[in-house]
Amino acid sequence: MQMHIGDVFQAQKTIQEIAKETPCFRASSLDAQLGINLYLKAENLQKTGSFKVRGAANFLLKRCAQTPAPAGVVAASSGNHGQAVAFVAQTLGIPAVIVMPEQATRAKVNAAVGYGAQVEFCGTTSSERLARAKEIALEKDYLEVPPYDHEDIMAGQGTLGVEIIQQVKDADAVFVPIGGGGLVAGVAFAVKTLRPDIQIIGVEPAGSNSMYVSRLSGSRTALPKTASIADGLLTLIPGELTFPMVLKYVDEIVLVQEAEIGQAMRLCLERFKLLPEPSGAVSFAAALKKGSAYGKNVVAIVSGGNADLSRIGEYLAMQP
Ligand SMILES: *Cc1c(COP(=O)(O)O)cnc(C)c1O
Repeated sequence: MQMHIGDVFQAQKTIQEIAKETPCFRASSLDAQLGINLYLKAENLQKTGSFKVRGAANFLLKRCAQTPAPAGVVAASSGNHGQAVAFVAQTLGIPAVIVMPEQATRAKVNAAVGYGAQVEFCGTTSSERLARAKEIALEKDYLEVPPYDHEDIMAGQGTLGVEIIQQVKDADAVFVPIGGGGLVAGVAFAVKTLRPDIQIIGVEPAGSNSMYVSRLSGSRTALPKTASIADGLLTLIPGELTFPMVLKYVDEIVLVQEAEIGQAMRLCLERFKLLPEPSGAVSFAAALKKGSAYGKNVVAIVSGGNADLSRIGEYLAMQP
């Protein structure tokens, strides 16, 4: 696989009717305290509440422009990918089935149903859900939308990188959360291609550090288990396509502790009046502790805002 920067620019055109350009924010009191200019790229304000709509829209719009267009779509996801796929399918007027775990929260089910998707419950593990999604794709002749390990998904997420270098012209470093690696692969590819002087720092929770471990060992390494409040980042093994991109384009991976994620959520709400979900706060947490090591102008991608509201009190009270 060879990605071209033209794929990212093409994705930007493709998705412009569905995804929006999100703002970058600064908080002067925080900047004074940290001694750097810290920009939050607010993808929590993106359509559906996370950047995932960029990749999903690029993947689906491309295929809906071909013949035969897909009759429907299916995705295995309890979270933001499912919402993004449901929303894009609704916009395109095609049916969507989202496969969720049996213990999915009411709020997540309601969000997908609210975008017109049919929700099917299956098992408790992501491999069970993926297998069921493949079955549905075969049975109904629906198109399966991958969450990260596809070049059209990476190109869609890469549009975020292009926006950042347009909005923060003097950026020195960009902090990016890592789950399966689609976001960091796309952003790192776009930024390093256009502005090789900007550092790309990937961020994982210490309790879900498969990319960190794999990068150290030089090959994709599976974790026996994962544990973090950042439920969008619980990936056991990096993607086949995303991993080599990370090796090539990411400068460093920083790990954050659970309490650092909770405190970052709190500070974000206090200073920016923005509420990220835990997965969306890890890059901010890492930039708070390590940002000044990478220069004066530092960007943290707040990747999503779909927090479980019944747990907000618990997150905001987390102490080291
Ligand atoms: C999916 C997701 C991530 C991780 O993205 P990957 O492409 O899987 O690495 C980060 N933050 C949020 C809010 C997400 O939904």
